[in-house]
Amino acid sequence: MADRIGFIGLGIMGKPMAWNVMEAGYDLVVYNRTREKAEEISGDGATVADSPREVAEGSDVVITMLPDSPDVWEVVSGENGVLEGIEEGALLVDMSTISPVVTRELAEEAEGRGASMLDAPVSGGDVGAQEGTLSIMVGGGEEDFERARPLFEVMGQTITHVGPSGAGQTAKAANQIVVALTIEAVSEALVLGSKAGAAPEKILEALSGGLAGSKVMEAKREKFLSHTFDPGFRVELHHKDLGIALAAGREYGVPLPVTAIVDQMLGSLKVKGKGDKDHSTILTLIEEGAQHRIGEGV
Ligand code: NAP
Repeated sequence: MADRIGFIGLGIMGKPMAWNVMEAGYDLVVYNRTREKAEEISGDGATVADSPREVAEGSDVVITMLPDSPDVWEVVSGENGVLEGIEEGALLVDMSTISPVVTRELAEEAEGRGASMLDAPVSGGDVGAQEGTLSIMVGGGEEDFERARPLFEVMGQTITHVGPSGAGQTAKAANQIVVALTIEAVSEALVLGSKAGAAPEKILEALSGGLAGSKVMEAKREKFLSHTFDPGFRVELHHKDLGIALAAGREYGVPLPVTAIVDQMLGSLKVKGKGDKDHSTILTLIEEGAQHRIGEGV
């Protein structure tokens, strides 16, 4: 078991994930762009580094949990980045959701430094991160996967080695298609049902038990019903993810017509200033079209 773990990116997801790693008894060194967030966890026993490079120096495994491809590129390959400090034989595990193409390029760079890299994006949201129940989709070599498995088991419950480098990100893109399109479909169902006179909570109750039931209905129920859209998973991150899916569709010749529509809906929410709201706010776009807020007059 690797004993010194570096963790970079302590946001909504990264912070609870790093916490779980520390609680499992690993020696943890952390870095976050806004230092205060790193200091919050240092009070509990982690060491705070001044740069990604410093995190990598002396670490057996370095984990990154950052928003998007350019962020991971800068933190890993940029000045004072992870690859400047990475130890020979160390393992870099990127758990952010980014482009599979960027992932494969960075994995090659890591190899050039005598290290290796896994892509290991996650699903399960902030609650899954806190509870250590994430679904982790991994791309990379079998040996590296087995080496990282004990760490994955601390952060997640469903851990799947999908295939070679980039395969984890491809699986995550597929995951994001299903989640976005399901939120959109549930939103349409709720607005139609409610405007036609049915109580939204009864619609969810009735649909949950049958083929239409889904985890989205369970996990987003309160947000839909109360119209409180604090994240959770931000609209701008899901927009980024559908961009990754659509680019992959283009590359492999797979038309994704409904994904393209929901991508445009997320883009529209960003323009309306809702980029930092939870993705379940897709509901408000359907409500706008219908000129009906669910639950009103029911
Ligand atoms: P977040 O709350 O925005 O956290 C991102 C962290 O990265 C912040 O601590 C931020 O630092 C740091 N950061 C951003 N850009 C940076 C840069 N260029 N250099 C250095 N540090 C940088 O995001 P999140 O919700 O945790 O999501 C992280 C990743 O997980 C994303 O790829 C997302 O798609 C994926 N994901 C999220 C969820 C979810 O439910 N939230 C679920 C599954 C997967 P500052 O503190 O300075 O801003």
